[in-house]
Amino acid sequence: MQIPDAAQWSASFDVGRATQAWLDTVSGAQRLQSDAYFEGGYWLLLWNLLWGLGIAALLLTAKRSARLRDWTERVTTRRWLQTLLYAAAYLLLTWLLALPLSIYQDYFREHQYGLANQSFLPWFGEQCISLALLLVFGSIFIALIYWVVRRTGERWWAWGAGLATLFVLLAIVVAPVFVLPLFNDYRPLPPGETRDSILSLARANGIPADNVYVFDASKQTTRISANVAGALGTTRIALNDNLLNRTSLPEIRAVMAHEMGHFVLNHVWRAVVYLGVLIVWVFLLLHWTFDWLLQRWGARLGIRDRADVAGLPLALALLSILGLLATPLTNTITRQQESEADIFGLNAAREPQAFASVAMRLSSYRKLDPGPLEELLLYDHPSGRTRVHMAMRWLKENPPAQ
Ligand SMILES: [Zn+2]
Repeated sequence: MQIPDAAQWSASFDVGRATQAWLDTVSGAQRLQSDAYFEGGYWLLLWNLLWGLGIAALLLTAKRSARLRDWTERVTTRRWLQTLLYAAAYLLLTWLLALPLSIYQDYFREHQYGLANQSFLPWFGEQCISLALLLVFGSIFIALIYWVVRRTGERWWAWGAGLATLFVLLAIVVAPVFVLPLFNDYRPLPPGETRDSILSLARANGIPADNVYVFDASKQTTRISANVAGALGTTRIALNDNLLNRTSLPEIRAVMAHEMGHFVLNHVWRAVVYLGVLIVWVFLLLHWTFDWLLQRWGARLGIRDRADVAGLPLALALLSILGLLATPLTNTITRQQESEADIFGLNAAREPQAFASVAMRLSSYRKLDPGPLEELLLYDHPSGRTRVHMAMRWLKENPPAQ
């Protein structure tokens, strides 16, 4: 780890100058590339929305969606099975139609920016595992939501939001422990200084784990990452091999202390509550807009009523618009939690320079120095500048022992 001169502790230490010195360690072509990658991500939000709306339009016109529903009705007379069958066919079809865009954005683009290590076939194999999970859990979720719509009528949005929140809870609490091992190998970190140091941080902060795992993310990506996941006896501290092999111990401690912050501050549980509230509003808006469109175009599209699964492409098209509109809000919820974990991590690991160094490493995929409004609306983590400033401010108030 290289600390720039102007960021070294001295009697005349200045937070602003130290912050700028760290930012200047990433400059020129490197900075242009990182800005281009991140700003391209803004456009991808838009292209993904338009692509998705195009797919919805394709399915809804010429009553294609209604004909898919008619087919399920010929296969079975059970309503829940018809919905399940439609949902699975719909998810498979839209996955295929979205494949060109996902190959570009998740494969070629990641390689173009030096962020991916995987060749095409293993990458595609993993996409197929994700598809299998989507087909199983996505179809069940859709079938359950339509069951709720049939049973609760006008009030479906409230009951549906409850069900969706339950799925969110499962996805963010249970999935990391059971789903991630489908993609990566988790092995215990061998005894040594790194493991001792991480476990000491865990004990000091009341984290109920007595083992540290390392996973082989380097087969997919060049990014560094770590997590403290799980609950109720499944708590697991893990770091990826990029973090382990390519950074120094103080940097590892800075990252692990941040991840422990998420755990200690109950961010997962709080995120479920925030998202639950947001889902209620989103479903209520969906309820109004869907019914309004149904009145006007229902007959022409062959959608009979609210509970008719043939309306799914229309409902999901509306959801994707509402979701994009809610992005600044969800970003802000996440960014605030990240900021809390940053402060927690600085206080726990007491490694401000290492934290600053890691913030610079993350510039491989996150623009370092955005405008204030850009950060507010489009960042789901604090920017590099914000993070380094936070670390240097901490250092100013906690001068190293002489
Ligand atoms: Zn975090």
